[in-house]
Amino acid sequence: ADNLHPLSIKKLLEKLIDFFGPIIQKENISLKMDLTQDDPLVLGDKEALEQVFSNLISNAVKYNRPKGTATITIKDKDKSVVVEVQDTGIGIAPEHLSFIFDQFYRVNRKEGPKTKGTGLGLSIAKKIVEAHEGTIRAISEPGKGSTFTVTLPKAEAENDCP
Ligand code: ATP
Ligand code: MG
Repeated sequence: ADNLHPLSIKKLLEKLIDFFGPIIQKENISLKMDLTQDDPLVLGDKEALEQVFSNLISNAVKYNRPKGTATITIKDKDKSVVVEVQDTGIGIAPEHLSFIFDQFYRVNRKEGPKTKGTGLGLSIAKKIVEAHEGTIRAISEPGKGSTFTVTLPKAEAENDCP
């Protein structure tokens, strides 16, 4: 795509954390990001990537437990940047895990609080990440939590912002 620019994924995430902060306090969940982490540049579309991580953060809050945590980690790899959004929530059973990126797919749960959503967030996130030539995957342990991992290509040094 031609609308991709080098951008700091750390700055983008800090902005989202500022935005979600008040909402999260209300839900009694703590959102953490290590401020000392790497700050690699990603080749990306800012608004689109904001949409990806907004959904991952909102899911990590929405499907969490009271007093749970959501932790964001940035890893600077050789050719890519890896962002992990980890939560201590209800998790996703193995029989559902392969469908959560499908449009309108939501897990029906008999117990626990009912959550609202359209089931589109992750399908949109996947389309956006793949348009960046990246990948998104989820691992989960029901009752313990989930980790969503987004891998995005790093901006080449010669493309870096001044
Ligand atoms: P929307 O994002 O469109 O408002 P949604 O959150 O239901 O609605 P997705 O973000 O696409 O839709 O997620 C699909 C389903 O995957 C959710 O309904 C939920 O069942 C499950 N899910 C997603 N993230 C998590 C998570 N962090 N922990 C547990 N379940 C999750
Ligand atoms: Mg969602």
